[in-house]
Amino acid sequence: MSTILVVEDEESVRELVRMYLENDGFRVETASDGEEALNKVKANTPDLIILDIMLPKFDGWTVCREVKKTSSVPIIMLSARTEEFDRVLGLELGADDYIPKPFSPREMVARVRAVLRRTNASPGAGGRVLTYGDLTIDRDANRVTVNDREVAMAPREFELLWFLACHPGRVYSREQLLEEVWGYEYLGDARTVDTHIKRLREKLHANGEATYIKTVWGRGYKFEATE
Ligand code: CA
Repeated sequence: MSTILVVEDEESVRELVRMYLENDGFRVETASDGEEALNKVKANTPDLIILDIMLPKFDGWTVCREVKKTSSVPIIMLSARTEEFDRVLGLELGADDYIPKPFSPREMVARVRAVLRRTNASPGAGGRVLTYGDLTIDRDANRVTVNDREVAMAPREFELLWFLACHPGRVYSREQLLEEVWGYEYLGDARTVDTHIKRLREKLHANGEATYIKTVWGRGYKFEATE
């Protein structure tokens, strides 16, 4: 069972989020200011943090920066509609997603699940290293090799490959891939996916062999395990 730390000073919002997450089977810890949040991160090692920006003591930005110094726990930031969410700052600080207030609790739960899937995908035994034929993807080391040759990947290319490889055989539309891999940072259009797929194929293309990523005409892309 995943533990979610909900950091929010408004009690009504905090309790609403808690209720929805608990109904969905999550364990929930809460904190109502930045200092308590940092203590709870240390004490409870949550699997994901939902972090409001405007908080007493330390604000959400400070909490995010401090947490990401020592941990890779995913963080979803919340901010009121009146506050201009600073995407660039969010990216620099390593936030994984962003939800504007007011939000639908159902959508919030869906986002939590999406971020957990994306950051925490565990394809059964073997965990964070995937091997298909001559292709090895090591999540922890951020390393991809083909025939023992290391292939340099941009972060987003790695995330896209990892996501597809975690779900071999399953077809994803461009829109689904944008949501799963790009999340809130995405500002362009679906052709971004095509561009990344093209680059991934070029990089994975070894010895003239077919690549692992297949186009499913009219539907999207899938990862095809060989052998
Ligand atoms: Ca607040």
